[in-house]
Amino acid sequence: MEPIVVAKNLSKSYTKGLRALDNVSLTVNQGKVLVVMGPSGSGKSTLIRTFNGLETFDRGELNILGIKIDSTHDERKIQKIRRRVGMVFQQFNLFPHLSILENITLAPVHVQKRRQAEAEEYGMYLLNQMGIDSHAKKYPSQLSGGEQQRVAIARALALKPELLLFDEPTSALDPERINEVLDAMRKLARQGMTMVVVTHEIGFAKDVSDQVLFMDSGKVIETSPPNIFFSNARHERSRKFLNQLD
Ligand code: ADP
Ligand code: MG
Repeated sequence: MEPIVVAKNLSKSYTKGLRALDNVSLTVNQGKVLVVMGPSGSGKSTLIRTFNGLETFDRGELNILGIKIDSTHDERKIQKIRRRVGMVFQQFNLFPHLSILENITLAPVHVQKRRQAEAEEYGMYLLNQMGIDSHAKKYPSQLSGGEQQRVAIARALALKPELLLFDEPTSALDPERINEVLDAMRKLARQGMTMVVVTHEIGFAKDVSDQVLFMDSGKVIETSPPNIFFSNARHERSRKFLNQLD
């Protein structure tokens, strides 16, 4: 199986003495879904942000889609990685002055130099996939949070990424809107998208993930398949964390 993400002994400190990442190693193979869990401040965002070069690291090595980067943070390689990796954030970060369809076609047309008509056609296909094609001409402020997040996912997909990163994609949503976003993500996973998802949504993790990685204080405490992690986590710290969630 082809590895899409390989991290070897990644370490990072923002401030001296405090390790945001402490010797983190992991592998995500093609078509697999890794869910990352852990308490606030455990390093989850820092970790997935290194996967598309949004964060540097001090030690260790990353191989993303066959491109190797290290602490020198080679900008040319980072650019290559960014073209192939999509990211969805907690805050949807849509362009408020552009319509939904324009939000989705902007980068394909201006960055990837695709034809407008082709970008629009593919954009409409993606909006349909996400169940929001009827909103194509509206503006972000006219949509609910759950709809805006599905636009953000469609926008990431428009660049035809080979890896999708999600950092707490449902944390800013009203509870009744969470499932429509998780369902859209389930669909992507079923279609074979390789995904790394920071989330505390246990139902989603149980259904969709191949592995759950649990972090605390910048360290990987355990990486287990979901059926083991949620019923019989190997580590006391994981079990304590799970008890606090429900
Ligand atoms: P999580 O996403 O699990 O909540 P983060 O990766 O955001 O954790 O943070 C890990 C640690 O790094 C925390 O101690 C946090 O305070 C620190 N940290 C995160 N971002 C920064 C930053 N930009 N500058 C300084 N410290 C940071
Ligand atoms: Mg975070």
